[in-house]
Amino acid sequence: MRLSRYFLPTLKEAPSDAQIVSHQLMLRAGMIKQEAAGIYAWLPLGLRVLNRIEQIVREEQERAGAVELLMPTLQLADLWRESGRYDAYGPEMLRITDRHERELLYGPTNEEMITDIFRGFVKSYKSLPLNLFHIQWKFRDERRPRFGVMRGREFLMKDAYSFDIDEAAARRAYNRMFVAYLNTFARMGLKAVPMRADTGPIGGDLSHEFIVLAETGESQVFCDKTLVEMAAPGGDVDWNDLQSIVDQRTSLYAATEEMHDAAAFESQTAEADRLTARGIEVGHIFYFGTKYSAPMKARVAGPDGADTDVHMGSYGVGVSRLLGAIIEASHDEAGIIWPDAVAPFDVVVINLRANDPDVCQACEAAVEALEAAGKSVLYDDTDERPGGKFATADLIGIPWQLTIGPKGVAEGVVELKRRATGEKTTAPLAQAMETIG
Ligand code: ATP
Ligand code: MG
Ligand code: MG
Ligand code: MG
Repeated sequence: MRLSRYFLPTLKEAPSDAQIVSHQLMLRAGMIKQEAAGIYAWLPLGLRVLNRIEQIVREEQERAGAVELLMPTLQLADLWRESGRYDAYGPEMLRITDRHERELLYGPTNEEMITDIFRGFVKSYKSLPLNLFHIQWKFRDERRPRFGVMRGREFLMKDAYSFDIDEAAARRAYNRMFVAYLNTFARMGLKAVPMRADTGPIGGDLSHEFIVLAETGESQVFCDKTLVEMAAPGGDVDWNDLQSIVDQRTSLYAATEEMHDAAAFESQTAEADRLTARGIEVGHIFYFGTKYSAPMKARVAGPDGADTDVHMGSYGVGVSRLLGAIIEASHDEAGIIWPDAVAPFDVVVINLRANDPDVCQACEAAVEALEAAGKSVLYDDTDERPGGKFATADLIGIPWQLTIGPKGVAEGVVELKRRATGEKTTAPLAQAMETIG
């Protein structure tokens, strides 16, 4: 992609109402533009990162056995009356009336709709276990939309819903999502800690929020330090028996403010291992039994022929919020430092003299070679001064910067810089490409 033909409206300074660094950097790097409070247009660079994050989430859902579908953003109010949530949900729900005076809403979540889809087709325990997910825009009329995409009103969420014959099977479904989440966030370079979360009126211990530690996080959290550094299990696990992996983590203390028990924290965790911090909720998993299936009559015939209400769970990931969380965790004074797995481009090729045919030719050859090797490349072919080009490259956080100028062309070398470490090497293109890998 040639920068001269791209759309990258960077800003010298962030608007003063952007309070936290991820919001400031997303605006400065030309990734998003606010259209209304908590409602953003995704500009090309932001969209590329959003798409990569979405794809990682999708792959890990599928690895754990979930099946993708797509439900609409608009839902009928009557469906929510069946569960009793239409009145209970309150002012966060955006309610809409169509030309026929039919009441609709812009979905803040999809438990009712997925239960309706399930009951329309599934009649036997033989179709279970089943886990269906979608990645779709949600709307919640947040009282205080803020921090950019971190607390938007319109935001992208992955939500999965599991259906099982009984609680034991539902627990296995829960464990699959638990492990899928550990792997998902680790692939994005994040350390996300599962923490016991409030289950509300249903009770039980089956709800965890996945929290990324960050000073700007909105929740106060308490956990054993060991959990932060624990490596993700990876995909090569026995997906039918994950209890020991889950137990290993849930046996260590980790709780959000609402669930915190100071006495338990102190008795379970050595003082040196106690961590009190702020965190960002990037995911939330929940087992809620028959809360929706009972009132909505989502039943299947069991092996004995008798109908039973299915046991359900729901599993959310804040896909758009993750961009903010990743930037909070990975930036410096100069800008964003994208982890390789979510970077909008793998390499930026910087042409130091865009009016010199030899330099242009060397740059174009480098772009071609990199693309042939499967790398995505942003080519800065603009006639801006070198200082401005380096500043932009640092700001937008592409993992590798490959710089070519007249001196390098004469010597047959390029300069390669790793954004994360600032480390620079001068070498022939082939060698630089080997370093990039
Ligand atoms: P929060 O406590 O931050 O308000 P929540 O508990 O209301 O979030 P859930 O209903 O658990 O959110 O939704 C699943 C996931 O969707 C959350 O873990 C979070 O990552 C994301 N999410 C929720 N609300 C927003 C929002 N307003 N903007 C961006 N992402 C959000
Ligand atoms: Mg909320
Ligand atoms: Mg929450
Ligand atoms: Mg939540």
